[in-house]
Amino acid sequence: MRRVAILGASGSIGTQTLGLLRALRERFEVVLLAGHRSGAALADLAREFPGAAVALSHPEGAAAFQAAGPPRATRLFTGPNASSEALLAVRPDLVVQGISGAAGLEPSLAALEAGADLALANKESLVMAGPLLKERLAASGRRLLPVDSEHAGVWQCLGGKGTAGVRRIFLTASGGPLLDLSAAERERATPAQVLRHPTWKMGPRITVGSATLMNKAFELLEAHWLFDLPPERIEVLIHRQSVVHAMVEFVDGALLAQLGVPDMRVPILAALGWPERIESDLAPFDPLAFSRLTFEPADPERHPALALARLALEMGGDSGAALNAADEVATAAFLAGKIPFPRIVATAGAVLAAHEPSSPRSLEEVLAADRRAREHARRILESC
Ligand code: MG
Repeated sequence: MRRVAILGASGSIGTQTLGLLRALRERFEVVLLAGHRSGAALADLAREFPGAAVALSHPEGAAAFQAAGPPRATRLFTGPNASSEALLAVRPDLVVQGISGAAGLEPSLAALEAGADLALANKESLVMAGPLLKERLAASGRRLLPVDSEHAGVWQCLGGKGTAGVRRIFLTASGGPLLDLSAAERERATPAQVLRHPTWKMGPRITVGSATLMNKAFELLEAHWLFDLPPERIEVLIHRQSVVHAMVEFVDGALLAQLGVPDMRVPILAALGWPERIESDLAPFDPLAFSRLTFEPADPERHPALALARLALEMGGDSGAALNAADEVATAAFLAGKIPFPRIVATAGAVLAAHEPSSPRSLEEVLAADRRAREHARRILESC
């Protein structure tokens, strides 16, 4: 029996993970459900997974949880660091980290401190603080299992081993819903249009990031830290069908690819079971339904976000934290209808260009860089 904590329990990854765990109760026990504002949803889940502790980091979430009449014995953690405190108290074997954005970094570090394996869907943890997270990972002696489809693909191609003998890895990108639009059409794109992803079903921030390709930019940083590969050996390809998630090319010319229908439950199951395979009731793959797989270069002019990722790696230190913070602020402004779509990446680029990198030694220093970049992004957006 593995004791599992779900962070971001009512979000896209959390919901899909719990959907799988409902059918795996003989192998996994849900011991912690953590959210932010989603008190009512977590009260329902607490009834369904009796014995699980609950963490809610926003006061409104905690109030909604109490109002929903949860099981009386539920252990409840509240306050801004509720998830981290709960992790240290509950000490799960495995943490499924499905929190969206920079808010996920502190709980990721707490998961390692609590002695858990970390199934990481929150790529921001690595984008913001790759070296710090890896240092804590090494000290914990636990495993980091990627729950990002591309990285889970690379991980599986490598058999969970290192990258000795690897020449390059390829990460694929669907290109998102605006791929074929003209510059003028992209300027007019609405949030509703951007949120209609052609192949993947995901949360709003990452869906906007698939259209800007900032999500892929972050995945480049994520892959760099996960697999210890220099950025020039990580390539991005536009692959509209989202069937090939990643490819690994070895020095002898052999190439391995990981394929499957675009469904996050596949990488979640791979992480839950690793190194074993868990049988699922997902529909078997039909190659004939995908008889045409296409690959296109990612055009740097149309997708300036990719160059920002490479620049952030060149600048080093806390540059990834600055890039992520600026993108979060600009993405929220776009979703609120305040700025046109192309301004998201332009804002992130302006913040990164002005960023003076330093090498953070602690969570506090990373969060300070995050705050400075957010303030800068807000100033830029207010002035235009
Ligand atoms: Mg991905």
